[in-house]
Amino acid sequence: MIDDYRMRMEIIETCRWLRREKYVFGTWGNVSVRLEDGNILITPSKIDYDEMQPEDLVVLSPNGEVVSGFRLSTSERELHLGIMKKRQDINAIIHSHSTYAMAASCRDRGIPAFSDEICQLIGGPIPLTSRYVTSSKHVELGQVATDSVTNANAILIRNHGPMCFGRTLKEARVCCQILEKSCEIYLHLLMASGGVTRIPDEDIVGGRDYYLNLYGKS
Ligand SMILES: [Zn+2]
Repeated sequence: MIDDYRMRMEIIETCRWLRREKYVFGTWGNVSVRLEDGNILITPSKIDYDEMQPEDLVVLSPNGEVVSGFRLSTSERELHLGIMKKRQDINAIIHSHSTYAMAASCRDRGIPAFSDEICQLIGGPIPLTSRYVTSSKHVELGQVATDSVTNANAILIRNHGPMCFGRTLKEARVCCQILEKSCEIYLHLLMASGGVTRIPDEDIVGGRDYYLNLYGKS
């Protein structure tokens, strides 16, 4: 059984880490974790991360009904709920507004798999959502983002920012770091040459399989 209190503290620490890393400013960012009973523990709307307490977090059912909590959950909850429903293999989602991933989200396409890190730790090319949706249209934004999700553990929401996933919150945090670094490298590559060598599809699958099943065992 997941220790609910410990998980709440881990989410709060992740929010503070996001701000320390300058992946978010203010309260612009949100985090969710799937609990063992299938419900989703998610950050509240507009609570300063330094003041956030374990009881401020909200538990939602997979369909978004409030199970427990007295705060309003993040206004971007539909992004989390849709992705959690589509990707039953992941249990943690982080949405940030990190600088390079935000810059990359303003282009017209996603990020190709150009490094071993992307293959192993993200699992493939990072898709960009199909069209811009203002963040005030929560439900539509959640649907468009969910439609774009692939087997890769990240997406770029067009003209908005990244979402990173993992089997655990720790994995989602690593995904945030690798995505941000990859977007920085990619944007520099485009400025330098315009040409980027992509890793073949079979090696993307092989790299991810190695990380998930063999890494640290051989
Ligand atoms: Zn956002």
